[in-house]
Amino acid sequence: MLLISSKRFQEHTTPPGHPERPERAEVFDRIAASWRERGGRVVEPRAATRDELLRVHDEAYVAAIEAVNGRAAMLDPDTFTSPESYEVALLAAGAAVQAAEHALDTRETAFALVRPPGHHAERDKAMGFCLFNNVAVAAAAAVARGLARVAIVDIDVHHGNGTQWMFYADPRVFYVSTHQYPFYPGTGAANETGTGAGKGFTLNVPLAAGARDADYEIAYGEIARALDRYAPELLLVSAGYDAHAADPLASMRVSTEGYAQIVRTLRDSAARARCPLALVTEGGYDLDALASCLDATIAVLGAI
Ligand SMILES: [Zn+2]
Repeated sequence: MLLISSKRFQEHTTPPGHPERPERAEVFDRIAASWRERGGRVVEPRAATRDELLRVHDEAYVAAIEAVNGRAAMLDPDTFTSPESYEVALLAAGAAVQAAEHALDTRETAFALVRPPGHHAERDKAMGFCLFNNVAVAAAAAVARGLARVAIVDIDVHHGNGTQWMFYADPRVFYVSTHQYPFYPGTGAANETGTGAGKGFTLNVPLAAGARDADYEIAYGEIARALDRYAPELLLVSAGYDAHAADPLASMRVSTEGYAQIVRTLRDSAARARCPLALVTEGGYDLDALASCLDATIAVLGAI
């Protein structure tokens, strides 16, 4: 497995007390250092190109984010920039594309450890700590290479509204999410299943607050069957760890082992479809839980 990470992900700063804080990137650095010590490979990300971003974001939106380069700004009540955020966000999106490209080119799993996260970012707006929609930029890059079936499984506790809407009418990207519901951002009902040619290519599995490992195991059994039917050519994972019992933002009770089990299920789905696997981080706001879940994910995926 290849890790893609950079100390530069610490440079996007948020106001004091904000959960999506630079210390999360220090966790990524420790994970990457330990992977390197064990003989694993870690590479620096590249910036996403303008063309890559414009596959999922409006030109005016990308220009608006570029316009706050070099200064602090509030983009929505939860979403802030610091002077370095534009460049760091380009690296986060670029890392996600790199992970997908590496997986497709080599069939080796790749994991991009990035912040800011991406899945709430919409075509035309920043939202929920997210600037560019990293996993969506990666999925669009895979489609641009000619892939006809890209699956995104979003294991973050929040629904990935941005990712869902970007591909809602597109059967080439199957968006699947488990999430606490009802909860932020409000979308992700079971009857949101896609539209037009994309009908049936969005699968939401909303779960009540307090869901435990056993509830997730049932949900991921259903998701595994749906992935078997779809037969993806690439499986992307929006790897958010905020369904962990220790997370301060949400109310789920998933253990670190529960997360390992989710990752095992997805790894096995990819193996059955003979498709490459690439992951990109999303949320996860308890630093110890984030570290232990990343360790567990890497242990499941991790032939060096
Ligand atoms: Zn989240």
